[in-house]
Amino acid sequence: MNRRKGCAVSEPFANLPFDNSYGRLPEKFYARLSPVAASAPYLIEFNQALAKNLGIEKHFDDPQATARFLSGTSFPAHADPLAMVYAGHQFGNWVPRLGDGRALLVGEIVDPDGILWDIHLKGSGPTPYSRNGDGRAALGPVIREYLLSEAMHVLGIPTTRSLAIVSTGDMVYRNAPLEGAVLTRMARSHIRVGTFQYFYANQDHEALRQLADYCINRLYPECLNADNPYRALLDQVVEKQAYLIAKWLSFGFIHGVMNTDNMAISGETIDYGPCAFMDQFHPAKVFSSIDRHGRYSWGNQPHMGHWNLAQFASALVPILAGTESKAIEQAEEAIAAFADHFNRYYLQHFGQKLGLKIKSEEEESFLESTLELLTKHRIDFTLFFRNLSETVKDQNHDGLADLFANKRALANWQNAWSALADKQEHTPLKRYERMRQANPVYIPRNHLVEAAIEAAYHGNFEVCRTLGSLLSKPFDEQDGAQDYERAPSEDEVVRATFCGT
Ligand code: AMP
Ligand code: MG
Repeated sequence: MNRRKGCAVSEPFANLPFDNSYGRLPEKFYARLSPVAASAPYLIEFNQALAKNLGIEKHFDDPQATARFLSGTSFPAHADPLAMVYAGHQFGNWVPRLGDGRALLVGEIVDPDGILWDIHLKGSGPTPYSRNGDGRAALGPVIREYLLSEAMHVLGIPTTRSLAIVSTGDMVYRNAPLEGAVLTRMARSHIRVGTFQYFYANQDHEALRQLADYCINRLYPECLNADNPYRALLDQVVEKQAYLIAKWLSFGFIHGVMNTDNMAISGETIDYGPCAFMDQFHPAKVFSSIDRHGRYSWGNQPHMGHWNLAQFASALVPILAGTESKAIEQAEEAIAAFADHFNRYYLQHFGQKLGLKIKSEEEESFLESTLELLTKHRIDFTLFFRNLSETVKDQNHDGLADLFANKRALANWQNAWSALADKQEHTPLKRYERMRQANPVYIPRNHLVEAAIEAAYHGNFEVCRTLGSLLSKPFDEQDGAQDYERAPSEDEVVRATFCGT
């Protein structure tokens, strides 16, 4: 391991409200780390609004000290930097030990409501879990994660947040030398399905219990009131993931690497890699060039979520009930609830997008036919739903018709939509307001994110900032921003996004 020594004390952060609860777990849960000095840490972006929400903004008013801290060069003395250990199924293949190979948990910030937030540096240098990797991150993927995670948050999709981007002054070598950077990521917790799998595979049932207790205390304290708190934890995680994946689908988001080590127990979207929002709708769409069989395609995400949760349930079996057969029964029962939760949330979210309550079979099959229409006519997912909302307010709005070469197909669909809408109780104005809140004008379209990354590699961060600021109000049309609304032209289409890790 090649960790150049940084220094241990950084004064401006001496009063940051840290808790280091994960570090109080036994040492088999992590590896303690010392800081690694970046050559020339420079603060590119700091998320003031997030820092304010967390009540920590006043500690970060010196950009140079911030850059040293958030590059992992120097830590406050009361931080407890460590890399978390976990295992996981990667594209279905079991890997017994993964762990934070290019990230570290600095500690947990206590926000004004007493909630703990992991402060996590991604790209800050090698750890004992780096395997053959360099522990670094290139600026491009850091910008991608920053823009996407913050956009997800304002769209109402549970996600880890991004606090800062620091350029390190060190080059990282991928296909070409690239500028290195560190992302500061905040999460309710970075514990993954793979964390449970690690201890399950080691047959360490005591550690499984400690981990489950930790998750309950920190994330799901209401489980303590249940007859069987571990079963209650499983139920919570199943429902949270069902909600999350239904949200992904309803915004056209494709995570790209839904391995069990990338599924958070907290229900937050985590580990942004080759993820993307799709432009033209197709249920089999993938962006990851390594996902050759479409395992993590848009439409397969619920199935894979269910599969991952089954791995989580299996890992809990040793602590779920008195006997193994009872525990398996509990696990199966909990996992079986995924489909109902998912369908309920999926129909709720898409119902809001369509301005309909989707309850009857007729309404459900109308939703299916809507997605078939988009697929067949290669329609932009985001533009379709947004323009549909506008049509509800203004019948002369022609944005929807403009998307279709085949006007008759659209007209037939609209007749069916009107017939269903007429049977339901909403007034057009109420319907329009609900729809607008589910159908953004602006999403982090791939070609826009790529342009921001390209500019940043040339030293221009304004493109990234402008995009970020526009994406912070995704449901409101903003003056002079038409170019950010539109779908990419044929030569702008991005067909694959890269982990770049
Ligand atoms: P991911 O699926 O991208 O979240 O990463 C899978 C595993 O590979 C995790 O254990 C990461 O910590 C590790 N990893 C990814 N990139 C690197 C890197 N550049 N250096 C070391 N480990 C890495
Ligand atoms: Mg990961």
